[in-house]
Amino acid sequence: MMKTLRAPFKFSCALAYLRSGLCVVAIGIIGLGVGGCDAPETASVNEQPNVVATSTILSDWAEQIGGEQINLTGILNPGDDPHVYEPTPRDSRTFEEADLIFYNGYNLEPGLIRLMNAAGTNAVKVAVGEVVTPLQLEQEGQTVPDPHVWGSAENAIVMVGAIRDSLIELSPAQQAEFDQNADRLIAELEQLHTWIQQQTATIPPNQRQLVTTHDAFQYYARAYGLTVPGTLIGISTEEQPSAQTIQQLVDRLRNLQVPAIFAETTINPQLISTVAEEAGVQLAEEELYSDSIGAPGSNADSYVKMMETNTRTIVENLGGTYTPFDSPES
Ligand SMILES: [Zn+2]
Repeated sequence: MMKTLRAPFKFSCALAYLRSGLCVVAIGIIGLGVGGCDAPETASVNEQPNVVATSTILSDWAEQIGGEQINLTGILNPGDDPHVYEPTPRDSRTFEEADLIFYNGYNLEPGLIRLMNAAGTNAVKVAVGEVVTPLQLEQEGQTVPDPHVWGSAENAIVMVGAIRDSLIELSPAQQAEFDQNADRLIAELEQLHTWIQQQTATIPPNQRQLVTTHDAFQYYARAYGLTVPGTLIGISTEEQPSAQTIQQLVDRLRNLQVPAIFAETTINPQLISTVAEEAGVQLAEEELYSDSIGAPGSNADSYVKMMETNTRTIVENLGGTYTPFDSPES
């Protein structure tokens, strides 16, 4: 689409130059066949490919890499829980009009994956999370891949690479810009990874234990030297914990002497709060961002800020010493 329209845009561009009285200069430029006049092309919204991202994390990365060159629609809003999200008719139209769809995969967003596969769309579909080799976890007697792959910033780097490559395939003419944007983001993620390792290393070794409502922090824990001694529910929030499961976690916590446990922004905190109370453990005042970044303007409104804020919450509540992330972008 962009390619076929390239000539007319150049032509109108040349006319504009001629009308503005810069004939000599313009003719010189045209004569050499050099454009140098791409503004009308990028300014035309209709010519940008429609890119769709399901999760807020993928939207953040697609926006940072695609920039002005894509027309991006993020389906989930900050705070939405991808596991239980019920798609709307509008989501169906969004998929139908897409040229490229980024979704997490490993069944993070079952409702949206079902809708995407049912929708009549010619879009290229990329399961960005599935470029990472998953951890296999037990869930209700079955072994399933853990979808929360972004918990390690090293995995995030691989996922960002997949987004960059897909965008280049979609709009090869914009490769230089996509490469540059991705390089900048990857440099920041590399620093973030090192920084998180340094932060969690300040937590006393016997307190490096992360107990949350649902099992979303296995990748984070493994990458940053913590263990997950138990969670209230498994890797999906679709299930409800039984009274027995709640009691088991309470008993476990009484023996562990964990300084604090954590609620999550996408899940009702009531049950984990009850567990904390019963076990005589503190519930961290700040909730962790598990499956969604924060609302615009919050302290977690990008992937990097979400990881930074979560790390602060974890380190401070488990007895470590937090030092702010010196992002190369800030
Ligand atoms: Zn989750």
